[in-house]
Amino acid sequence: MSEDKKIEDEVLKEMGEKKDDEEFEDVCFMCRRPESKTGKMVHMAQGVCVCQQCMQKAFDSMGNGRFPYGNIDISKMPNIGMINLSDLTNQMPKQQKVKKKKTKEEPKKAFDVKSIPAPHKIKASLDEYVIGQEHAKKVISVAVYNHYKRVATDTMEDIEIEKSNMLMIGPTGSGKTYLVKTLAKLLDVPLAIADATSLTEAGYIGDDIESVVSKLLAAAGNDVEKAEHGIIFIDEIDKIAKKKNTNQRDVSGESVQQGMLKLLEGSEVEVPVGATSKNAMVPMETVNTRNILFICGGAFPGLEDIIKERLNKQASVGFKADLRDKYDDDPNLLEKVTVEDIRKFGMIPEFVGRLPVIFTLQGLTEDMLVQILKEPKNAILKQYQKLLALDEVKLEFNEDALREIAKKARKKDTGARALRAIIEEFMLDIMYEIPKDDNIGSVTITKEYIEGTGAPLIQMRGVPALEG
Ligand code: ADP
Repeated sequence: MSEDKKIEDEVLKEMGEKKDDEEFEDVCFMCRRPESKTGKMVHMAQGVCVCQQCMQKAFDSMGNGRFPYGNIDISKMPNIGMINLSDLTNQMPKQQKVKKKKTKEEPKKAFDVKSIPAPHKIKASLDEYVIGQEHAKKVISVAVYNHYKRVATDTMEDIEIEKSNMLMIGPTGSGKTYLVKTLAKLLDVPLAIADATSLTEAGYIGDDIESVVSKLLAAAGNDVEKAEHGIIFIDEIDKIAKKKNTNQRDVSGESVQQGMLKLLEGSEVEVPVGATSKNAMVPMETVNTRNILFICGGAFPGLEDIIKERLNKQASVGFKADLRDKYDDDPNLLEKVTVEDIRKFGMIPEFVGRLPVIFTLQGLTEDMLVQILKEPKNAILKQYQKLLALDEVKLEFNEDALREIAKKARKKDTGARALRAIIEEFMLDIMYEIPKDDNIGSVTITKEYIEGTGAPLIQMRGVPALEG
Protein backbone atom coordinates (compact mmCIF):
# COMPACT_ATOMS: atom_id res chain seq x y z
CA MET A 1 0.00 0.00 0.00
CA SER A 2 1.36 3.39 -0.91
CA GLU A 3 2.15 5.97 1.76
CA ASP A 4 -0.64 8.29 0.53
CA LYS A 5 -3.21 5.54 0.69
CA LYS A 6 -2.15 4.69 4.24
CA ILE A 7 -2.57 8.28 5.38
CA GLU A 8 -5.90 8.50 3.66
CA ASP A 9 -7.08 5.32 5.41
CA GLU A 10 -5.98 6.61 8.78
CA VAL A 11 -7.79 9.89 8.29
CA LEU A 12 -10.94 8.06 7.23
CA LYS A 13 -10.72 5.74 10.23
CA GLU A 14 -10.33 8.65 12.58
CA MET A 15 -13.28 10.42 11.01
CA GLY A 16 -15.35 7.26 11.34
CA GLU A 17 -14.47 6.97 15.02
CA LYS A 18 -15.31 10.59 15.56
CA LYS A 19 -18.66 10.10 13.87
CA ASP A 20 -19.30 7.04 16.01
CA ASP A 21 -18.30 9.06 19.04
CA GLU A 22 -20.88 11.70 18.27
CA GLU A 23 -23.63 9.15 18.52
CA PHE A 24 -22.55 8.07 22.01
CA GLU A 25 -22.39 9.89 25.28
CA ASP A 26 -20.48 9.32 28.49
CA VAL A 27 -22.02 7.57 31.46
CA CYS A 28 -21.25 8.35 35.08
CA PHE A 29 -19.14 5.61 36.60
CA MET A 30 -21.00 5.82 39.89
CA CYS A 31 -24.65 6.50 39.19
CA ARG A 32 -24.70 5.23 35.56
CA ARG A 33 -26.65 8.21 34.30
CA PRO A 34 -25.69 9.57 30.87
CA GLU A 35 -24.14 13.00 30.40
CA SER A 36 -27.37 14.38 28.94
CA LYS A 37 -28.96 13.87 32.39
CA THR A 38 -26.11 14.71 34.72
CA GLY A 39 -24.53 17.70 33.03
CA LYS A 40 -20.83 18.01 32.31
CA MET A 41 -18.75 15.19 33.79
CA VAL A 42 -15.27 14.97 35.21
CA HIS A 43 -13.05 12.79 33.00
CA MET A 44 -10.53 10.60 34.78
CA ALA A 45 -7.95 8.07 33.77
CA GLN A 46 -8.90 5.01 31.65
CA GLY A 47 -11.97 6.65 30.22
CA VAL A 48 -13.76 6.79 33.57
CA CYS A 49 -16.19 9.66 33.95
CA VAL A 50 -17.92 10.78 37.11
CA CYS A 51 -20.70 13.29 37.29
CA GLN A 52 -20.34 16.31 39.47
CA GLN A 53 -23.01 15.24 41.92
CA CYS A 54 -21.37 11.87 42.51
CA MET A 55 -18.03 13.55 42.82
CA GLN A 56 -19.43 15.88 45.45
CA LYS A 57 -21.03 12.99 47.31
CA ALA A 58 -17.73 11.14 47.27
CA PHE A 59 -15.91 14.15 48.72
CA ASP A 60 -18.61 14.66 51.31
CA SER A 61 -18.48 11.12 52.59
CA MET A 62 -14.71 10.92 52.49
CA GLY A 63 -14.11 13.87 54.81
CA ASN A 64 -12.10 12.25 57.66
CA GLY A 65 -13.74 8.97 56.96
CA ARG A 66 -16.91 10.36 58.46
CA PHE A 67 -20.42 10.83 57.21
CA PRO A 68 -21.24 14.41 56.40
CA TYR A 69 -23.92 14.31 59.07
CA GLY A 70 -22.78 13.41 62.57
CA ASN A 71 -19.51 12.15 63.93
CA ILE A 72 -19.62 8.54 62.87
CA ASP A 73 -16.36 6.89 61.88
CA ILE A 74 -17.13 4.71 58.90
CA SER A 75 -13.99 2.63 59.15
CA LYS A 76 -15.09 1.47 62.61
CA MET A 77 -18.55 0.47 61.51
CA PRO A 78 -19.25 -3.26 60.98
CA ASN A 79 -19.83 -4.55 57.44
CA ILE A 80 -18.45 -1.44 55.78
CA GLY A 81 -15.23 -1.51 53.87
CA MET A 82 -13.69 1.27 51.87
CA ILE A 83 -13.74 0.83 48.12
CA ASN A 84 -10.50 0.80 46.24
CA LEU A 85 -11.02 2.51 42.91
CA SER A 86 -8.28 0.54 41.19
CA ASP A 87 -10.06 -2.74 42.06
CA LEU A 88 -13.11 -1.44 40.38
CA THR A 89 -11.41 -0.42 37.19
CA ASN A 90 -10.25 -4.01 36.68
CA GLN A 91 -13.82 -5.19 36.59
CA MET A 92 -14.93 -2.23 34.61
CA PRO A 93 -16.59 -3.00 31.26
CA LYS A 94 -14.75 -1.48 28.33
CA GLN A 95 -17.74 0.34 26.93
CA GLN A 96 -18.37 3.33 29.15
CA LYS A 97 -20.77 5.06 26.84
CA VAL A 98 -24.40 4.74 25.95
CA LYS A 99 -26.03 5.54 22.68
CA LYS A 100 -27.66 8.95 22.67
CA LYS A 101 -31.39 9.06 22.35
CA LYS A 102 -32.55 10.41 19.02
CA THR A 103 -33.97 13.88 19.40
CA LYS A 104 -37.64 13.94 18.53
CA GLU A 105 -38.55 15.26 15.11
CA GLU A 106 -40.28 18.59 15.13
CA PRO A 107 -44.01 17.71 15.08
CA LYS A 108 -45.77 19.25 12.13
CA LYS A 109 -48.66 21.56 12.75
CA ALA A 110 -51.74 19.54 13.54
CA PHE A 111 -54.29 21.36 11.45
CA ASP A 112 -54.35 23.86 8.71
CA VAL A 113 -57.58 25.29 7.29
CA LYS A 114 -56.33 25.03 3.74
CA SER A 115 -55.52 21.37 4.05
CA ILE A 116 -59.10 20.37 4.87
CA PRO A 117 -60.67 19.02 1.69
CA ALA A 118 -64.03 20.49 0.64
CA PRO A 119 -67.13 18.34 1.29
CA HIS A 120 -67.45 17.19 -2.33
CA LYS A 121 -63.83 16.05 -2.26
CA ILE A 122 -64.33 14.17 0.99
CA LYS A 123 -67.38 12.50 -0.50
CA ALA A 124 -65.55 11.64 -3.72
CA SER A 125 -62.82 9.95 -1.70
CA LEU A 126 -65.40 8.08 0.37
CA ASP A 127 -67.06 6.96 -2.88
CA GLU A 128 -63.93 5.07 -3.79
CA TYR A 129 -64.36 2.82 -0.79
CA VAL A 130 -67.94 2.91 0.43
CA ILE A 131 -70.71 1.66 -1.86
CA GLY A 132 -74.14 3.31 -1.76
CA GLN A 133 -75.13 5.20 1.40
CA GLU A 134 -75.16 8.39 -0.66
CA HIS A 135 -77.07 10.41 1.88
CA ALA A 136 -74.90 9.31 4.78
CA LYS A 137 -71.73 10.12 2.88
CA LYS A 138 -73.01 13.56 2.02
CA VAL A 139 -74.06 14.37 5.57
CA ILE A 140 -70.85 13.10 7.07
CA SER A 141 -68.70 15.02 4.56
CA VAL A 142 -70.38 18.32 5.31
CA ALA A 143 -70.37 17.76 9.07
CA VAL A 144 -66.72 16.78 9.14
CA TYR A 145 -65.75 19.71 6.94
CA ASN A 146 -67.55 22.16 9.22
CA HIS A 147 -66.10 20.59 12.29
CA TYR A 148 -62.51 20.80 11.16
CA LYS A 149 -62.99 24.27 9.75
CA ARG A 150 -64.06 25.34 13.19
CA VAL A 151 -61.17 23.54 14.81
CA ALA A 152 -58.64 25.05 12.45
CA THR A 153 -59.88 28.61 12.77
CA ASP A 154 -60.61 28.12 16.45
CA THR A 155 -63.82 30.08 16.35
CA MET A 156 -65.52 27.80 18.81
CA GLU A 157 -64.88 30.30 21.57
CA ASP A 158 -66.03 33.63 20.20
CA ILE A 159 -69.09 32.32 18.39
CA GLU A 160 -71.00 29.61 20.11
CA ILE A 161 -71.22 27.07 17.30
CA GLU A 162 -72.43 23.64 18.15
CA LYS A 163 -70.06 20.76 17.75
CA SER A 164 -71.07 18.50 14.90
CA ASN A 165 -71.10 15.26 16.85
CA MET A 166 -73.03 12.64 14.94
CA LEU A 167 -75.45 9.83 15.50
CA MET A 168 -75.41 7.20 12.81
CA ILE A 169 -78.26 4.73 12.64
CA GLY A 170 -78.07 1.70 10.39
CA PRO A 171 -78.38 -2.06 10.38
CA THR A 172 -75.41 -4.20 11.30
CA GLY A 173 -72.86 -4.63 8.55
CA SER A 174 -74.10 -1.64 6.55
CA GLY A 175 -70.75 0.11 6.80
CA LYS A 176 -70.97 2.35 9.87
CA THR A 177 -67.56 1.48 11.24
CA TYR A 178 -66.12 1.25 7.77
CA LEU A 179 -67.32 4.74 6.90
CA VAL A 180 -65.71 6.26 9.98
CA LYS A 181 -62.48 4.31 9.52
CA THR A 182 -62.22 5.42 5.91
CA LEU A 183 -62.92 8.99 6.91
CA ALA A 184 -60.21 9.05 9.58
CA LYS A 185 -57.73 7.59 7.14
CA LEU A 186 -58.58 10.18 4.48
CA LEU A 187 -58.26 13.05 6.89
CA ASP A 188 -55.21 11.54 8.55
CA VAL A 189 -56.55 12.03 12.07
CA PRO A 190 -56.33 9.53 14.93
CA LEU A 191 -59.38 7.36 15.49
CA ALA A 192 -60.51 5.41 18.53
CA ILE A 193 -63.28 2.86 18.24
CA ALA A 194 -65.05 1.91 21.43
CA ASP A 195 -67.96 -0.29 22.19
CA ALA A 196 -70.66 1.27 24.33
CA THR A 197 -71.54 -2.09 25.84
CA SER A 198 -68.21 -2.27 27.66
CA LEU A 199 -68.60 1.15 29.24
CA THR A 200 -69.91 1.58 32.75
CA GLU A 201 -70.17 4.42 35.17
CA ALA A 202 -66.82 5.13 36.85
CA GLY A 203 -66.18 2.80 39.75
CA TYR A 204 -68.01 -0.21 38.36
CA ILE A 205 -66.62 -3.25 36.60
CA GLY A 206 -65.95 -2.38 32.96
CA ASP A 207 -64.18 0.49 31.29
CA ASP A 208 -65.07 3.87 32.62
CA ILE A 209 -66.26 6.42 30.12
CA GLU A 210 -63.04 8.39 29.97
CA SER A 211 -61.20 5.30 28.76
CA VAL A 212 -62.36 6.18 25.25
CA VAL A 213 -60.19 9.27 25.43
CA SER A 214 -57.14 7.31 26.54
CA LYS A 215 -57.73 4.98 23.59
CA LEU A 216 -57.65 7.99 21.31
CA LEU A 217 -54.49 9.24 22.98
CA ALA A 218 -52.89 5.87 22.33
CA ALA A 219 -54.04 6.01 18.69
CA ALA A 220 -52.39 9.42 18.42
CA GLY A 221 -49.11 7.98 19.70
CA ASN A 222 -49.55 9.77 23.06
CA ASP A 223 -49.48 13.11 21.31
CA VAL A 224 -52.08 15.17 23.16
CA GLU A 225 -52.38 17.85 20.50
CA LYS A 226 -53.01 15.27 17.80
CA ALA A 227 -55.52 13.41 19.97
CA GLU A 228 -57.46 16.61 20.56
CA HIS A 229 -58.25 16.71 16.83
CA GLY A 230 -59.17 13.09 16.56
CA ILE A 231 -62.38 11.14 16.10
CA ILE A 232 -63.97 8.86 18.67
CA PHE A 233 -66.43 6.33 17.30
CA ILE A 234 -68.69 4.71 19.86
CA ASP A 235 -70.41 1.70 18.41
CA GLU A 236 -73.51 -0.08 19.70
CA ILE A 237 -74.75 3.12 21.27
CA ASP A 238 -78.29 1.71 21.26
CA LYS A 239 -77.18 -0.77 23.93
CA ILE A 240 -76.95 2.00 26.51
CA ALA A 241 -80.56 2.98 26.09
CA LYS A 242 -82.44 3.51 29.30
CA LYS A 243 -83.64 0.19 30.66
CA LYS A 244 -87.37 0.01 30.89
CA ASN A 245 -89.08 -0.88 34.14
CA THR A 246 -86.02 -1.23 36.26
CA ASN A 247 -85.69 -0.23 39.85
CA GLN A 248 -82.02 -1.12 40.09
CA ARG A 249 -79.23 1.32 39.51
CA ASP A 250 -78.66 1.45 35.77
CA VAL A 251 -74.84 1.56 35.73
CA SER A 252 -74.37 0.65 32.10
CA GLY A 253 -77.32 2.40 30.56
CA GLU A 254 -78.70 5.74 31.52
CA SER A 255 -75.81 6.63 33.79
CA VAL A 256 -73.32 6.01 30.98
CA GLN A 257 -75.32 8.40 28.85
CA GLN A 258 -75.20 10.91 31.68
CA GLY A 259 -71.48 10.39 32.08
CA MET A 260 -70.85 10.96 28.41
CA LEU A 261 -72.54 14.33 28.33
CA LYS A 262 -69.55 16.35 29.39
CA LEU A 263 -67.22 14.47 27.09
CA LEU A 264 -69.47 15.11 24.11
CA GLU A 265 -69.75 18.76 24.88
CA GLY A 266 -66.10 19.33 25.57
CA SER A 267 -64.26 19.15 28.84
CA GLU A 268 -60.83 18.59 30.23
CA VAL A 269 -60.26 15.00 31.23
CA GLU A 270 -57.30 13.48 32.96
CA VAL A 271 -56.45 10.23 31.27
CA PRO A 272 -53.78 7.66 31.98
CA VAL A 273 -51.10 7.34 29.31
CA GLY A 274 -50.58 3.84 27.98
CA ALA A 275 -53.30 2.21 30.07
CA THR A 276 -57.05 2.26 30.27
CA SER A 277 -57.35 2.41 34.02
CA LYS A 278 -56.04 4.99 36.41
CA ASN A 279 -53.59 3.90 39.04
CA ALA A 280 -50.62 5.38 40.80
CA MET A 281 -48.09 3.86 38.45
CA VAL A 282 -49.17 5.44 35.18
CA PRO A 283 -48.54 9.02 34.16
CA MET A 284 -51.57 11.17 33.46
CA GLU A 285 -52.23 13.67 30.70
CA THR A 286 -54.98 16.24 30.41
CA VAL A 287 -56.92 16.07 27.17
CA ASN A 288 -59.51 18.60 26.13
CA THR A 289 -62.39 16.98 24.27
CA ARG A 290 -63.72 20.25 22.88
CA ASN A 291 -62.37 19.61 19.40
CA ILE A 292 -62.74 15.85 19.38
CA LEU A 293 -65.40 14.68 16.96
CA PHE A 294 -67.69 12.09 18.49
CA ILE A 295 -69.57 9.76 16.19
CA CYS A 296 -72.01 7.35 17.76
CA GLY A 297 -73.40 4.44 15.81
CA GLY A 298 -75.98 1.78 16.42
CA ALA A 299 -78.47 -0.54 14.78
CA PHE A 300 -81.34 0.53 17.07
CA PRO A 301 -83.45 -2.60 16.64
CA GLY A 302 -87.09 -1.84 17.17
CA LEU A 303 -86.72 1.80 16.20
CA GLU A 304 -88.65 1.19 12.99
CA ASP A 305 -91.66 0.10 14.98
CA ILE A 306 -91.51 3.29 16.99
CA ILE A 307 -91.33 5.35 13.79
CA LYS A 308 -94.15 3.37 12.25
CA GLU A 309 -96.32 3.85 15.28
CA ARG A 310 -95.75 7.60 15.25
CA LEU A 311 -96.44 7.88 11.53
CA ASN A 312 -99.56 5.82 11.80
CA LYS A 313 -100.78 7.96 14.63
CA GLN A 314 -100.12 11.14 12.69
CA ALA A 315 -101.67 9.94 9.48
CA SER A 316 -104.82 8.45 10.77
CA VAL A 317 -107.10 9.46 13.45
CA GLY A 318 -109.90 7.01 13.06
CA PHE A 319 -108.61 5.18 9.97
CA LYS A 320 -105.80 3.34 11.66
CA ALA A 321 -106.83 -0.08 10.42
CA ASP A 322 -106.70 0.98 6.76
CA LEU A 323 -103.41 2.69 7.01
CA ARG A 324 -101.59 0.42 9.40
CA ASP A 325 -99.73 -1.47 6.70
CA LYS A 326 -98.93 1.64 4.71
CA TYR A 327 -95.43 1.81 6.16
CA ASP A 328 -94.90 -1.90 6.64
CA ASP A 329 -92.85 -2.43 3.51
CA ASP A 330 -91.33 1.01 3.34
CA PRO A 331 -87.61 0.38 2.84
CA ASN A 332 -86.80 3.96 3.76
CA LEU A 333 -88.71 4.01 7.00
CA LEU A 334 -85.58 4.55 9.07
CA GLU A 335 -84.84 7.78 7.20
CA LYS A 336 -87.97 9.30 8.72
CA VAL A 337 -86.51 9.08 12.23
CA THR A 338 -86.88 12.07 14.52
CA VAL A 339 -85.25 13.02 17.80
CA GLU A 340 -88.53 12.15 19.48
CA ASP A 341 -88.31 8.55 18.22
CA ILE A 342 -84.77 8.18 19.52
CA ARG A 343 -85.84 9.49 22.89
CA LYS A 344 -88.66 7.01 22.94
CA PHE A 345 -86.15 4.28 22.22
CA GLY A 346 -84.44 5.12 25.49
CA MET A 347 -81.81 7.76 24.84
CA ILE A 348 -82.02 10.66 27.27
CA PRO A 349 -82.82 14.07 25.75
CA GLU A 350 -79.57 15.68 26.90
CA PHE A 351 -77.63 12.95 25.16
CA VAL A 352 -79.48 13.19 21.84
CA GLY A 353 -79.20 16.95 22.10
CA ARG A 354 -75.44 16.70 22.01
CA LEU A 355 -75.51 14.72 18.77
CA PRO A 356 -76.97 17.32 16.43
CA VAL A 357 -76.19 15.50 13.18
CA ILE A 358 -78.43 12.45 12.88
CA PHE A 359 -78.46 10.30 9.77
CA THR A 360 -79.26 6.78 8.70
CA LEU A 361 -77.64 4.10 6.59
CA GLN A 362 -79.65 1.78 4.41
CA GLY A 363 -79.69 -1.95 4.70
CA LEU A 364 -77.61 -3.39 1.86
CA THR A 365 -79.46 -4.73 -1.16
CA GLU A 366 -78.29 -7.60 -3.33
CA ASP A 367 -77.04 -5.17 -5.97
CA MET A 368 -75.05 -3.24 -3.40
CA LEU A 369 -73.50 -6.45 -2.10
CA VAL A 370 -72.38 -7.37 -5.62
CA GLN A 371 -70.87 -3.92 -5.99
CA ILE A 372 -69.15 -4.21 -2.62
CA LEU A 373 -67.55 -7.42 -3.82
CA LYS A 374 -65.93 -5.90 -6.85
CA GLU A 375 -65.92 -2.11 -6.87
CA PRO A 376 -64.25 -0.52 -3.83
CA LYS A 377 -60.55 0.28 -4.10
CA ASN A 378 -59.75 -2.55 -1.72
CA ALA A 379 -62.60 -4.87 -2.79
CA ILE A 380 -62.39 -8.46 -1.61
CA LEU A 381 -62.24 -9.79 -5.16
CA LYS A 382 -59.43 -7.43 -6.05
CA GLN A 383 -57.50 -8.69 -3.05
CA TYR A 384 -57.82 -12.31 -4.15
CA GLN A 385 -57.03 -11.42 -7.74
CA LYS A 386 -53.87 -9.68 -6.60
CA LEU A 387 -52.85 -12.66 -4.49
CA LEU A 388 -53.24 -15.07 -7.39
CA ALA A 389 -51.65 -12.65 -9.82
CA LEU A 390 -48.48 -13.02 -7.78
CA ASP A 391 -48.56 -16.69 -8.85
CA GLU A 392 -49.29 -15.48 -12.40
CA VAL A 393 -52.78 -16.94 -12.30
CA LYS A 394 -55.75 -14.92 -13.51
CA LEU A 395 -58.82 -15.09 -11.28
CA GLU A 396 -62.22 -14.25 -12.69
CA PHE A 397 -65.74 -14.35 -11.35
CA ASN A 398 -68.87 -14.86 -13.44
CA GLU A 399 -71.53 -12.24 -12.84
CA ASP A 400 -74.09 -14.85 -11.76
CA ALA A 401 -71.56 -16.28 -9.31
CA LEU A 402 -71.27 -12.87 -7.65
CA ARG A 403 -75.04 -12.63 -7.48
CA GLU A 404 -75.20 -16.03 -5.84
CA ILE A 405 -72.65 -14.94 -3.22
CA ALA A 406 -74.67 -11.78 -2.55
CA LYS A 407 -77.83 -13.86 -2.19
CA LYS A 408 -76.17 -16.15 0.32
CA ALA A 409 -74.82 -13.17 2.24
CA ARG A 410 -78.22 -11.54 2.45
CA LYS A 411 -79.68 -14.63 4.04
CA LYS A 412 -77.21 -14.32 6.91
CA ASP A 413 -78.54 -10.89 7.83
CA THR A 414 -75.19 -9.51 8.88
CA GLY A 415 -74.82 -7.13 5.96
CA ALA A 416 -71.56 -7.02 4.06
CA ARG A 417 -69.79 -8.77 6.88
CA ALA A 418 -71.10 -12.11 5.61
CA LEU A 419 -69.41 -11.66 2.23
CA ARG A 420 -65.90 -12.23 3.40
CA ALA A 421 -66.85 -15.34 5.36
CA ILE A 422 -68.57 -16.86 2.32
CA ILE A 423 -65.76 -16.04 -0.08
CA GLU A 424 -63.11 -17.31 2.27
CA GLU A 425 -64.93 -20.59 2.59
CA PHE A 426 -64.87 -21.45 -1.10
CA MET A 427 -61.63 -19.72 -1.98
CA LEU A 428 -59.79 -21.93 0.48
CA ASP A 429 -59.68 -24.90 -1.91
CA ILE A 430 -58.66 -22.70 -4.78
CA MET A 431 -55.87 -21.02 -2.87
CA TYR A 432 -54.70 -24.46 -1.76
CA GLU A 433 -54.83 -26.26 -5.09
CA ILE A 434 -53.72 -23.66 -7.61
CA PRO A 435 -50.11 -23.23 -6.50
CA LYS A 436 -49.67 -27.00 -6.88
CA ASP A 437 -49.75 -26.81 -10.66
CA ASP A 438 -47.59 -24.30 -12.47
CA ASN A 439 -49.47 -24.81 -15.73
CA ILE A 440 -52.71 -23.27 -14.54
CA GLY A 441 -53.22 -19.96 -16.30
CA SER A 442 -56.62 -18.83 -15.12
CA VAL A 443 -59.49 -19.79 -12.85
CA THR A 444 -63.10 -18.68 -13.31
CA ILE A 445 -65.50 -18.97 -10.41
CA THR A 446 -68.92 -20.10 -11.62
CA LYS A 447 -72.37 -19.99 -10.08
CA GLU A 448 -72.34 -23.80 -9.92
CA TYR A 449 -69.18 -23.75 -7.85
CA ILE A 450 -70.77 -21.38 -5.34
CA GLU A 451 -73.89 -23.54 -5.20
CA GLY A 452 -71.77 -26.63 -4.68
CA THR A 453 -73.00 -28.35 -7.83
CA GLY A 454 -70.01 -27.78 -10.08
CA ALA A 455 -66.38 -26.87 -10.28
CA PRO A 456 -64.57 -23.70 -11.26
CA LEU A 457 -63.35 -23.32 -14.83
CA ILE A 458 -59.64 -23.93 -15.01
CA GLN A 459 -57.65 -22.90 -18.02
CA MET A 460 -54.12 -24.16 -18.59
CA ARG A 461 -51.52 -21.85 -20.06
CA GLY A 462 -51.85 -21.82 -23.83
CA VAL A 463 -54.75 -24.33 -23.86
CA PRO A 464 -58.43 -23.48 -24.42
CA ALA A 465 -60.80 -23.55 -21.42
CA LEU A 466 -61.59 -26.86 -19.82
CA GLU A 467 -64.24 -27.74 -17.31
CA GLY A 468 -62.13 -28.47 -14.18
P1 ADP B 1 -71.28 -1.94 10.91
O1 ADP B 1 -72.32 -1.11 10.22
O2 ADP B 1 -71.91 -3.07 11.66
O3 ADP B 1 -70.33 -1.12 11.70
P2 ADP B 1 -69.00 -2.48 9.29
O4 ADP B 1 -68.72 -1.08 8.93
O5 ADP B 1 -68.13 -3.09 10.31
O6 ADP B 1 -70.48 -2.64 9.73
O7 ADP B 1 -68.97 -3.37 7.96
C1 ADP B 1 -68.34 -4.60 7.88
C2 ADP B 1 -67.53 -4.73 6.61
O8 ADP B 1 -68.38 -4.74 5.49
C3 ADP B 1 -66.59 -3.57 6.38
O9 ADP B 1 -65.32 -3.86 6.87
C4 ADP B 1 -66.57 -3.39 4.88
O10 ADP B 1 -65.53 -4.14 4.32
C5 ADP B 1 -67.86 -3.97 4.43
N1 ADP B 1 -68.86 -2.95 4.07
C6 ADP B 1 -69.99 -2.70 4.74
N2 ADP B 1 -70.72 -1.76 4.12
C7 ADP B 1 -70.04 -1.38 3.04
C8 ADP B 1 -70.27 -0.43 2.00
N3 ADP B 1 -71.36 0.33 1.97
N4 ADP B 1 -69.33 -0.33 1.03
C9 ADP B 1 -68.23 -1.09 1.04
N5 ADP B 1 -67.96 -2.01 1.99
C10 ADP B 1 -68.84 -2.16 2.98
